[in-house]
Amino acid sequence: MQPSLLSVEDLKVTFATRRGPVEALRGVSLAVAAGESLGLVGESGSGKSTTSRMICRLLDASAGQILFEGESIGTIPARDFHRSAHRRAIQIVFQDPTDSLNPRFSAFDCIAHPVKRLTPLRGEALRLRVIESAERAGLPAALLDRFPHQLSGGQKARIGIARAIAVKPRLLVLDEPTAALDVSVQAGVLRLLDDLRREDGLAVLFVSHDLNVVRMMCERTLVLQGGRVVEEGVSRDLFRAPRTAYTRELLAAIPHFRPGQPRGLAAEPAA
Ligand code: ADP
Ligand code: MG
Repeated sequence: MQPSLLSVEDLKVTFATRRGPVEALRGVSLAVAAGESLGLVGESGSGKSTTSRMICRLLDASAGQILFEGESIGTIPARDFHRSAHRRAIQIVFQDPTDSLNPRFSAFDCIAHPVKRLTPLRGEALRLRVIESAERAGLPAALLDRFPHQLSGGQKARIGIARAIAVKPRLLVLDEPTAALDVSVQAGVLRLLDDLRREDGLAVLFVSHDLNVVRMMCERTLVLQGGRVVEEGVSRDLFRAPRTAYTRELLAAIPHFRPGQPRGLAAEPAA
């Protein structure tokens, strides 16, 4: 067993709302090894985004532990995490590329911003890092002067990915990274993410309500229901022979799903 890059133990989060407390996470444990891909699935409201935000330290936990490279990061208050040495190593890509990009920043500035904040790169070295990351994410350097509203959904998603990889993280947290994209554009973005993981050795926590995507992208899958882990396993086994009724129901809801279908992305042109 490889030592974990990320290990989460018995994480609990309760939100105070006007209607009373909402227990979003009721004791979630998971581990991701370096270079590994873990899929997080579950119906809407099951706690997927809360788990990813917790791991990226955008939210504070009510209880539990988060260890990154053996160090406890769960106790660092979310508002102080930007000063942590681990801030650079854990990057998140959000669901909606339009919402997550500053409309007043050019594509170049969107990508340069975290690099300036989290690395010592400046001047020409900074410019080269931005261009390299954009090209790595499949965004031609010629588009870097454009603003978000001058780019397509797929291109904006690629800025979100370029911005995350530009600081050379070791863990990429992807919260429904293609949910806002047209189906025809999704395949290209998914292929890019798969390539980044294989070629750069990035570990990936991949959140999706689309089980087919998780089955193709992730070595292991974890199923959340009502803020608890109900099932976890090697994706191939979990999708072929789910152990819980909840997972079987999720699988039954996928159109044309046949247990035991082979993994791997079908060849489609990049978007
Ligand atoms: P998912 O991403 O799986 O759809 P979430 O993690 O977003 O689920 O939400 C889990 C639960 O926590 C839901 O019941 C949701 O309504 C609640 N929740 C999430 N964020 C907040 C918040 N900021 N305030 C109050 N309740 C929240
Ligand atoms: Mg969500």
